[in-house]
Amino acid sequence: MALRLGRLRRPRRGERFDVAIIGGGPAGLSAAIYAVRFLLKTGVFTENVGGQLNDTDYVDDYPGMGKVRASKLIASFRGHAERYFGVPIYERVHVEKFERVDDVWFRITGRPSLEVYAKTIIMAVGSRRRKLGVPGEREYTGRGVSYCSVCDAPFFDGKDSVVVVGGGDSAFEGALVLSGYVKRVYLVHRRRQFRAKPWYVEAARSKDNIEFVLDSVVDEIKGDGTHVTSVVVRNKVTGAKREIKVDGVFIEIGFEPPAEWFKSLGLEVDERGYIKVDHWMRTNIPGVFAAGDCTDVWIGFRQIVTAAAMGAVAAYSAYNYLAERGLYAPRSDSIGSRG
Ligand SMILES: Cc1cc2nc3c(=O)[nH]c(=O)nc-3n(C[C@H](O)[C@H](O)[C@H](O)COP(=O)(O)OP(=O)(O)OC[C@H]3O[C@@H](n4cnc5c(N)ncnc54)[C@H](O)[C@@H]3O)c2cc1C
Repeated sequence: MALRLGRLRRPRRGERFDVAIIGGGPAGLSAAIYAVRFLLKTGVFTENVGGQLNDTDYVDDYPGMGKVRASKLIASFRGHAERYFGVPIYERVHVEKFERVDDVWFRITGRPSLEVYAKTIIMAVGSRRRKLGVPGEREYTGRGVSYCSVCDAPFFDGKDSVVVVGGGDSAFEGALVLSGYVKRVYLVHRRRQFRAKPWYVEAARSKDNIEFVLDSVVDEIKGDGTHVTSVVVRNKVTGAKREIKVDGVFIEIGFEPPAEWFKSLGLEVDERGYIKVDHWMRTNIPGVFAAGDCTDVWIGFRQIVTAAAMGAVAAYSAYNYLAERGLYAPRSDSIGSRG
């Protein structure tokens, strides 16, 4: 039985779960929906509900939803897991550690005073998009500043100009997608060489409406109080500054997975710091699975639908893990309030 503190649910100290899902974004909530359908006692332990979806206004590429407010999509994911299937979501919980205590159980600890046990764990902790850290960036996030060109390009349809910052695949892919919607795209990169694949670079060079602004960094994002209006760009070689009028700024300078934390838990990570999984979402630790943006799968194409798909697979794998080891004890009461 979960406890409620104010409006927040809290697990009992020492409470036991078949599967503990760490993270309440699309991957974690999708994993929760599938885990409970396998009659596993499931709990979601998360800092917030919705993950990166909290950073955007609209989504128009999640199948079956059309154009939908991100807040509505989060509510829909949450309602499906929590109200329809009765999965407890413990939010404002920061998981710090898990460790195996015997052949069956992992102990999971964190803040505030979290201590629960689970037979399996699904890591669905996402990955933060790297920020520029310049004046105006935070103020205009969601009001012209975006960290996902592929996601947000359609919302700039017919606009005059945007800036894309970065020199890797995501920046080039973003610039190419945006060039189909916007009259002019400036690609600002701090060097002359690009990390992006040559194919992307050639494709961008062949577009009349993509202008390269090289050896340059964005110093400031300006706006009129409600929306972005321009960026101040500085040439690192000459020091010259230039103000470019734009309707949007797309920051595509990579992700920051919490690699050191993953490693401290014993999880194997790839060279970029993402959790290594096989195609069943199994990590190197038996009984621990991972899903969504924190994994090394489909890098460069981080979407709600891909995260949700991985969450579903991770839940299926958790169920198989338990069944194969004789640890599966289906609980009809794990499906709480369906109906
Ligand atoms: C601005 C923006 C716009 C986007 N637009 C779209 C779009 O239109 N379409 C689309 O398909 N995709 C879009 N995306 C991408 C999409 O949001 C992500 O790919 C998706 O959210 C990844 O889901 P996830 O569950 O793997 O991770 P996240 O969404 O990052 O969720 C991770 C969760 O883990 C929790 N967490 C992290 N660490 C801990 C911890 N130690 N303890 C407890 N909880 C923890 C977080 O609180 C969060 O709830 C957008 C992303 C951004 C940033």
